[in-house]
Amino acid sequence: MTAHFDPSLVYFVGAGPGDPELITLKGHRLLGQADVVIYAGSLINPALLDYCKAGASCHDSAELSLGQIIDLMASGVAAGKLVVRLQTGDLSLYGSIREQGEELAKLGIGFRSVPGVSSFLGAASELGIEYTVPEVSQSLVITRVAGRTPVPERESLRAFAAHQTSMAIFLSVKEIREVTEQLIQGGYPANTPIAVVYKATWPDCQILRGTLADIAVQVREAGIRKTALILVGAFLGDEYHYSKLYDAGFSHEYRHA
Ligand code: SAH
Repeated sequence: MTAHFDPSLVYFVGAGPGDPELITLKGHRLLGQADVVIYAGSLINPALLDYCKAGASCHDSAELSLGQIIDLMASGVAAGKLVVRLQTGDLSLYGSIREQGEELAKLGIGFRSVPGVSSFLGAASELGIEYTVPEVSQSLVITRVAGRTPVPERESLRAFAAHQTSMAIFLSVKEIREVTEQLIQGGYPANTPIAVVYKATWPDCQILRGTLADIAVQVREAGIRKTALILVGAFLGDEYHYSKLYDAGFSHEYRHA
């Protein structure tokens, strides 16, 4: 049974990392029924707009201010139209949905979110890796370097590097040299493996692998300046231990050794 969508609300939909088949069924159904779609054109795959019905009005938010985005949403809702806001990856990471939600609330309009596959998950699938490797790393730090958006000092890359855990660094490939310097200063050995994944799950995906010492040169030579994730940590290296969960000699709730 599928629930009916409520046109008095705005639906925020995670578009996934790029491959148009990586949107959820709910997101796909929303796009198919939407009358108004406001999409983040700088990052989402335009092929997703093929899921929209004929006559849907689609707007690229790259050219719009927050006020203009809210106006489009509000006039759509007022006219009884189904409004979808389509953003890259998942909405909960660097999605700026809070400010949109608060501006809508001032107008008495609510919203619902439909999750998406974040690019850090798309990048892991491109590499066929696991961020959590038994006895090597059991945590993942998701962060970025400060750009026009400042990052609190206690969350600096240097501070996180002290943990030497797995890291997925968003919005920072332009600053790759600064990133690697800070990670080394913070405690990662210079030979720590690192990967840069450009346009994960897109047909023109590109993967660079190296160490903290040599990745910056590779990124510069490849000319990668945006739409890329920096993944760093020993999880990309050769040290590996089999999981206890599937170990024949290890009993747990569902299986006795
Ligand atoms: N909400 C998004 C992130 C938005 S911030 C998510 O969940 O993925 C935009 C940043 O995400 C980009 O600068 C880049 O670092 C990363 N990004 C988005 N799509 C990507 C992709 N397909 N491959 C690699 N990085 C991507």
